[in-house]
Amino acid sequence: MPLNNDGIMVILSSPSGAGKTTLVKLLSKRKNFKISISHTTRKPRDSEIQDKDYFFVDESEFKRLVQNEEFLEYAKVFNHLYGTSRSPVISNLQKGKNVIFDIDWQGADQIKNKKLDYKLITFFILPPSKKILFDRLSNRDMKDKLIAEKRMKEFSRDVLHWINYDYVIINDDLESCYKKIESLIDAELNNGPKDYDKDYIRNHIEKLTV
Ligand code: ADP
Ligand code: 5GP
Repeated sequence: MPLNNDGIMVILSSPSGAGKTTLVKLLSKRKNFKISISHTTRKPRDSEIQDKDYFFVDESEFKRLVQNEEFLEYAKVFNHLYGTSRSPVISNLQKGKNVIFDIDWQGADQIKNKKLDYKLITFFILPPSKKILFDRLSNRDMKDKLIAEKRMKEFSRDVLHWINYDYVIINDDLESCYKKIESLIDAELNNGPKDYDKDYIRNHIEKLTV
């Protein structure tokens, strides 16, 4: 039975390249916030470190973990498998640590549907425009422009999932985007007033989806 001093779960999802990994890393610098490190069958990018950014595993190891029911959630994203191990998450929550998840909408749905007794806040991150998203994807995946183009194609589908999240945040200036997320988490934790303009978000989504 979860207790008052248990941690909370914070999920950040977004269309690829909108900046959620960057934001999750910033949030993890806050006292008492820990990133949930996922397993994936994707190959590491040049900048990524094994067991820090992901547990990079092969398909047979991933399937073994699925069979052993070790995942709180898992999903196929862009042809690779990604999953969140249950035990480190629960152990951190029970120790009072807040756990941040960088997972897609399928994983967010699965965790929501589990209705765990820990407080859950979900954020969907959007880019300021499609042009800026393409630039960010192209810079990040420098070696393979095809990846950026493929992920742009998924954008129109992914963006539709915004509706299932508590808050949608536009990642224009990194610092102010981070501050918005931080202040909404604090407002949720302290039952304080929330600075959040739903109409502005709806307008932005209309612009991104025309
Ligand atoms: P995601 O995890 O959503 O796929 P990333 O966090 O990897 O996205 O960000 C994609 C790229 O955009 C990275 O190269 C990152 O450094 C850059 N980036 C993220 N946020 C901003 C921002 N506000 N302004 C400029 N570049 C950003
Ligand atoms: P990337 O390959 O760019 O690191 O991540 C691709 C997508 O997979 C992102 O939307 C990211 O949030 C998602 N993802 C990363 N880890 C997990 C996970 O454990 N579960 C799920 N469902 N999605 C994940």
